[in-house]
Amino acid sequence: MINFDRRVKWGLIVLLLPFVLHAQSKNNIRTHTEYLASDKLEGRGTGSRGIRLAAKYIAEQFKSIELQQIDGNSFYQKFPFPGEVEMESNVVGFIKASAPSKKSIVFTAHYDSFGIQKQEDQKDTIYNGARDNAVGVAALLELARIFKNAGTPRHNLVFLATAGEELGLYGSKFYVDHPIFPSEDIIICLNIDGFNVSGPREDYFIFPRQGVDFINEVKTILNPLGWHYISPDWVDDLNTSFDTASFLEKGIPALTLWTGDRLKGGKIAEPLDLGGIHTPKDEVTDNWNWEGVEEHLQLYKHIADYFLEHPDGISVTDPTMFMEQ
Ligand SMILES: [Zn+2]
Repeated sequence: MINFDRRVKWGLIVLLLPFVLHAQSKNNIRTHTEYLASDKLEGRGTGSRGIRLAAKYIAEQFKSIELQQIDGNSFYQKFPFPGEVEMESNVVGFIKASAPSKKSIVFTAHYDSFGIQKQEDQKDTIYNGARDNAVGVAALLELARIFKNAGTPRHNLVFLATAGEELGLYGSKFYVDHPIFPSEDIIICLNIDGFNVSGPREDYFIFPRQGVDFINEVKTILNPLGWHYISPDWVDDLNTSFDTASFLEKGIPALTLWTGDRLKGGKIAEPLDLGGIHTPKDEVTDNWNWEGVEEHLQLYKHIADYFLEHPDGISVTDPTMFMEQ
């Protein structure tokens, strides 16, 4: 009887563990997002007190996850910023490979937004940047925690929260020129910017869809899991808009993944009013669906797991597509 009881208990643990873990991820992402997008952080404007608080929070999280620091002493990577601000700071931590490896996967998510901008006819002046990109940074933190708990990876994993993105991709450009592990050995940059907060989906697309040769690899990873790849034409309009451009223009593979509007089962979702990106209305609201957020995170996890095992053979076929004209 005792053995049977134990087996039942063990079976329950094995069965329920994935649900417990996913629930934990959802809670963690929500907590991070709500803090980073709160009015206390004043819209995380470049050079502001609010963005310093955001950087401090990210560094504290990296510390509690026990990521490694740059030169063993700091998570901050300061870089010169043009104009009045003078200096800004990426926040970066990493997990070292099990055996010596120069290769790395770099996760990026920008943590800056537009700060406080007073306008006569507007009551709310804080650009909270909840979808763009507090939730992306929250996902970056949660991925760091998940990978740290998963044990030592085969290649290095870098978690890079960038600053100065909205004003010209400054933080990511600086990292590519001052990387922790050699830039020419970066397997791929997986950028998180624009996360799905509308609920579970079954289609996805990749920025960029041209000028690189790894779209088939991504399909090989995700399509057997029930995901459908789509390729809307407007994707090409954003070739130089994400932190990925800083990597791609130097010939380093990089992608941003978004989910589409197709619900599980094939129906197309009704659009939700989630407030405008790049306006004071980009805030966390009650109609956010955290299941969708957690699911989106899993897509990044699958892609990273694959490229840790298959680190060679992908490339940028046309870096000029990602250079500012
Ligand atoms: Zn963004």
